[in-house]
Amino acid sequence: MKTYEKLPVVLCADRFYMSEKALSLLRNVSEVVWADCKNEDDLIQKVSETKPKVIISEYFKITGRVMDASPNLKGIVVWGVGYDHVDIEAASERGIYVANTRGSNAESVAEHVFGLILCLSRKIHQLDHFIRAGKWTIKEESGIPPELVAQDLYGKTIGIIGLGAIGSRVARIAQGFCMRILAYDPYISLERAKEIGAELVDLEKLLKESDFVTIHVPLTEETKGLIGTRELNMMKKTAYIINTSRGPVVDENALIKALEEGKIAGAGLDVFAKEPISLDNPLLKFDNVIVTPHCAGNSKEALEATSLMVSEEVIRILNDQIPKNLVNKWQLMKKGYLKIS
Ligand code: NAD
Repeated sequence: MKTYEKLPVVLCADRFYMSEKALSLLRNVSEVVWADCKNEDDLIQKVSETKPKVIISEYFKITGRVMDASPNLKGIVVWGVGYDHVDIEAASERGIYVANTRGSNAESVAEHVFGLILCLSRKIHQLDHFIRAGKWTIKEESGIPPELVAQDLYGKTIGIIGLGAIGSRVARIAQGFCMRILAYDPYISLERAKEIGAELVDLEKLLKESDFVTIHVPLTEETKGLIGTRELNMMKKTAYIINTSRGPVVDENALIKALEEGKIAGAGLDVFAKEPISLDNPLLKFDNVIVTPHCAGNSKEALEATSLMVSEEVIRILNDQIPKNLVNKWQLMKKGYLKIS
């Protein structure tokens, strides 16, 4: 069996994109090991062998058991923003840093949101199918079927749930379309919302008044099922819902029912309850639903920026520095691992 002694080990728990530049930065100061694990036991075996100082993970669950099997572990760096797959409590109890790359793909997600919104409002995918199906006849050149007539964004209301890195960029793009911007986020101040150009409202008002509802919250105990039957029923029948956050934030069965009953106009979804989505998922039968495979944050630019940010955070931890995007700062302070400054 290979021994890992010369350089600290950085273990990659799953397969994610790392640019050559980002990888070579890491390889200068550490040994990078790709684990390709299938389950928690595989990862436990791999960490017992390699004793990593840092684990990088995009989606692979990092549990307290994995941490206990890693005697040298100082930090976990999440490739991306959502860190619902890392047991934050367990890491904090053990004094382990958890960092993410907040902001590295915010432009990418915000532009993807508008890709979905424009596709739905201008019915681009349906018009494309219309032509390919040979339905564009001379007779119809000046008029398409009424259900394919577009809707402008100008003057419409967008409701942003979660006004953080991504939500605030969505607001900035919405300003370009002269949209009215509502936001629901109990953790930001009125001043901050005003700076972003959004009116801070409660969830009910946002749902009742928006023509497009777009979700940008992390997946937490509090946000799981945030949008269910009650909330979907509050939306306008002409409104669309966009979810690029995490699947379980929306109750998928409730969404399917709302679409079946015509309670909302449609949906643009990048994330799902189960990923990859299975081909018999009822969401795939609706013409007014657009789906993409959890790639909103993966533009070329974002992949490069995320890779570099991951390397920088890993190197900080290897150098015994505090990572910049520490997500468990308060928990580490509470447990006495970090001083309050
Ligand atoms: P962020 O931390 O900058 O912003 C999240 C915002 O949600 C914060 O302002 C926070 O106050 C708010 N929030 C938290 N709980 C809330 C609640 N109960 N109700 C309303 N608001 C609440 O994160 P971000 O960079 O904007 O990313 C948001 C989420 O998007 C991530 O957690 C991740 O799950 C998801 N994401 C998806 C992709 C993708 O490819 N689809 C890419 C990046 C991020």
